[in-house]
Amino acid sequence: MVSWQIGNNVLEIVQGDITEQDTDAIVNAANSRLAPGGGVCGAIHRAAGPKLAMACAQIGGCPTGEVRVTEGFNLKAKYVFHAVGPVYRGAPEDAELLASCYRESLKKAVEMGLASISFPAISTGIFGYPIREAAEVALNCIAEFLRTCSAGLKVRMVLFSKPDFEVHREVLHHLMSGR
Ligand code: ADP
Repeated sequence: MVSWQIGNNVLEIVQGDITEQDTDAIVNAANSRLAPGGGVCGAIHRAAGPKLAMACAQIGGCPTGEVRVTEGFNLKAKYVFHAVGPVYRGAPEDAELLASCYRESLKKAVEMGLASISFPAISTGIFGYPIREAAEVALNCIAEFLRTCSAGLKVRMVLFSKPDFEVHREVLHHLMSGR
């Protein structure tokens, strides 16, 4: 685990399973229909139980780059934030849409008065975003948000694989040492 203080907030990077996190919210890498799918989304739906799919069906859908909130049901986390990342195309708008997922989630967490939130590496699985590029977008966006945030928020990036964790550790190190 790697941890950085940014203002009066903390950014942590861990290798693990997001469904097991005890933060107030966990973020789901959702699809625009908010339907239970594979990857991290499937894992979150399995761990939360069938009520999560019902809550998502009631919301109906969510545009790319935006976030919708449900309860966490059987999860330790009280809330699931469903963020819809872009399908990677190598287009200029990919990075802005990915950054928007992180920024909108962080804004909502602060608005709701939450103390902590966990993110997976959104779009880096089925949606094909290259892991290093995605890590740069995600960590830059989170760090920028936390620099001006006075809420005392704990933000945890949860990487499923060791190589993905190592990439995030490197990118964060470069970011924090100003290189
Ligand atoms: P997307 O469709 O946004 O690409 P995926 O679920 O396919 O979403 O993958 C997003 C990332 O989540 C991938 O890096 C994948 O390794 C990771 N992942 C899969 N399962 C879990 C889990 N249980 N906890 C944390 N991360 C996970």
